[in-house]
Amino acid sequence: MEAAFYEKIGDGRVACKLCPHNCVIAEGRRGICRVRENRGGTLYALTYARVASVAMDPIEKKPLYHFYPGGDILSIGTWGCNFSCRFCQNWTLSMQEVETEEFPPDRLAATAASRGSIGVAYTYNEPTIWWEYLYDSCRAVREAGLKNVLVTNGFVNMEPLEKLLPYVDAMNIDIKAFHEGFYKELCGVKLESVLEVVERASKNCHVEVTTLIVPGHNDAPKELDNLASWVAEHCGRQTPAHLSAYFPRYKLDVEATGESLLLHSREIFRKHLDYVYLGNVSTADGSDTDCVKCGAKVIARSGYRIDTAGMSQDGRCANCGFDNNMVNS
Ligand code: SF4
Repeated sequence: MEAAFYEKIGDGRVACKLCPHNCVIAEGRRGICRVRENRGGTLYALTYARVASVAMDPIEKKPLYHFYPGGDILSIGTWGCNFSCRFCQNWTLSMQEVETEEFPPDRLAATAASRGSIGVAYTYNEPTIWWEYLYDSCRAVREAGLKNVLVTNGFVNMEPLEKLLPYVDAMNIDIKAFHEGFYKELCGVKLESVLEVVERASKNCHVEVTTLIVPGHNDAPKELDNLASWVAEHCGRQTPAHLSAYFPRYKLDVEATGESLLLHSREIFRKHLDYVYLGNVSTADGSDTDCVKCGAKVIARSGYRIDTAGMSQDGRCANCGFDNNMVNS
């Protein structure tokens, strides 16, 4: 399918405007994400309706802890990414072309509805570079009365984001670090563009943020403090934050994140944010939700076993009625 958001700029070249890389692509070449190709002066979205992975996942796996807790969501992804993170934890899909199957938007929406899913999560690889399929699918899923969830690196230009946002219900956005050097050297992009997207999205839909703690690269206490404080100031202190343990993958082989580093990082985040969760570890209480007002256990999580006995039907604390920024209806 012909891509959206590009211009023909002469000599057979095109300028893609989908993400802040703003690639200028010569005939026969692809952009940095490798899924948008210039064929004869026209830009094509190569992965439209091409799906590499489909699964029903617990919503907590995205991770989203404050959005229909305990529910399952049909999760899909394809291949490609506009980042080049040396520590990518999912590089088999993001960094290489893999086999795909056709899954048109109307069939996707019908499948989600027939399986009793909350909706559809666009995940596994970067969904915003799948923009044309994302847009058509989000509209079809919404028409079926279901929800759309994006798990994204937040590196997308404002115009495509604005057009998509009316159909998006929740996002988990990575803030991988809080200094430009990390984004530039390890991911090949600019942090500033990501922060703009996090702030804009949080005004329109439910947003949770994730930071993968990579020892020696983004774990300085001052940096973590600045990151959490930025989220509180720009998105609100009730924004759920996930701190995940890194394991050596792809091109980076520094040691895995230790539990004590994660616990210390959580302590720093908690000064600014009400809901801070630990991921990729099995620390006791690392993923429970306690009511900010009365301290009662609202949700107990053990792996993907979720006990929502402390939550009322509308997502409030069953003990005191406080709204812990839980979307459940
Ligand atoms: S979406 Fe792909 S082709 Fe377009 S600007 Fe971004 S990296 Fe380049």
